[in-house]
Amino acid sequence: MYDIIVSGAGPAGSYSACLCAKSGLRTLLLERSILPRKKCCAGGVLERAVRLLDLDLDANVIERELKGFHFVREGRQYQCKNACRLAVTVRREVFDADLVRKAEAAGADFMQETEAVMIGEASDRVKVVTSRGDFDSRFVFIAEGANSRNAKILLGSFPEGGMGLGVAAEIQTIEDPGESAGIHLFGSGKALPFRRGFPMTGATFPLRSSVMASAVAAGKDTLNLNLALASMKRDVSEKLGVVKMHDPCFHSVPLAPRTRLATRRVLAIGDSAGFISPFSGEGLTYALTSAVIAAKVIATQSQLDGNISLRDYEVQCRRQIISRMRAARLIGPILHWVVGNFDSDRVLGNFTKDPKAIDLCARLARGSMSMRDFAFKGVPRIPYLILSSTE
Ligand SMILES: Cc1cc2nc3c(=O)[nH]c(=O)nc-3n(C[C@H](O)[C@H](O)[C@H](O)COP(=O)(O)OP(=O)(O)OC[C@H]3O[C@@H](n4cnc5c(N)ncnc54)[C@H](O)[C@@H]3O)c2cc1C
Repeated sequence: MYDIIVSGAGPAGSYSACLCAKSGLRTLLLERSILPRKKCCAGGVLERAVRLLDLDLDANVIERELKGFHFVREGRQYQCKNACRLAVTVRREVFDADLVRKAEAAGADFMQETEAVMIGEASDRVKVVTSRGDFDSRFVFIAEGANSRNAKILLGSFPEGGMGLGVAAEIQTIEDPGESAGIHLFGSGKALPFRRGFPMTGATFPLRSSVMASAVAAGKDTLNLNLALASMKRDVSEKLGVVKMHDPCFHSVPLAPRTRLATRRVLAIGDSAGFISPFSGEGLTYALTSAVIAAKVIATQSQLDGNISLRDYEVQCRRQIISRMRAARLIGPILHWVVGNFDSDRVLGNFTKDPKAIDLCARLARGSMSMRDFAFKGVPRIPYLILSSTE
């Protein structure tokens, strides 16, 4: 009988297992693949996500430390520099495997090539039927990513329109790829894109000798994602020269949280809960935030004999994650609309010369400012970006 079984050894699953084991709970972490397993991702870890990790990543995990970012719009690049580290880049198979090792070192049992086939809840325990036998536990975390069948069965489907698609491809470059992340503004158009909710945004993240290009969009439109990828390859080629682009991968991306996040003994974390930023498609901050919340709630609940409830998990997620997702859903389309409706060259050119605007973005990436404060402080700067002369 375990205290907690975690199904899925992505960052949300491994880190929550690590924290539960550290707090003395008997913890089992299950993963259906063999590690290191491939994960379709651009590998950008914002500083605010790094700061959530109460552990030191192995030296080989970090590919690059990023201190700057640049916008790319219709082939033109607008560079913004910052003095502090804004993000690191990783190869997800290396990062994820390192987090599993940390969970094992903290005392969690780990079984790979073990799929959680069914999760059945009784009043006093949860039974997890796996491809390698059945296990009982007091609580279960579902951390199986966006396509989790168990989360769908126990917690219901994502809300209508709550699923999008992402693409990622590695581009080997001739020149050193540098230390700046590219933000490619594909979704900036004339109409306020509130209804679509998720204007397509691309990102290019430098690794040691290559660049990971990625784009996320609402719906399942692979054609537009492929066009975005081709456009990012052109931009990278102009700046750095390209040796080759590897085959792209596609993966589902949840764009809205599940209405229900927990039953009495089972809860969903990370992508399985639908926690992705509708501003950028970034998911690691919320995967790790939900892992931290879940581990804290279980540490308290596992002390109780009767009256257990995971309601506090839902309350904390609404406060710390879903409110921020809502703010991002509002501010993202506004920023895209400004770029799409005014002289984008002037707006983005002015942005690169506005230390306050760059500082706001840096503070958002570093986690020292909430999305709500970013909106309050960022929106008043928009007239300056639109109206100032670029001279
Ligand atoms: C193209 C693309 C690019 C992205 N780029 C970024 C980025 O640069 N930065 C960022 O922050 N986010 C990015 N994201 C989002 C990020 O990848 C996810 O938010 C993050 O991986 C979520 O972590 P997770 O642990 O919840 O799930 P996952 O990382 O998906 O892990 C789930 C794990 O569960 C396992 N599993 C599934 N079902 C079972 C089962 N039944 N039993 C046992 N194991 C199971 C899977 O094999 C997998 O290992 C990107 C997403 C996409 C699609």
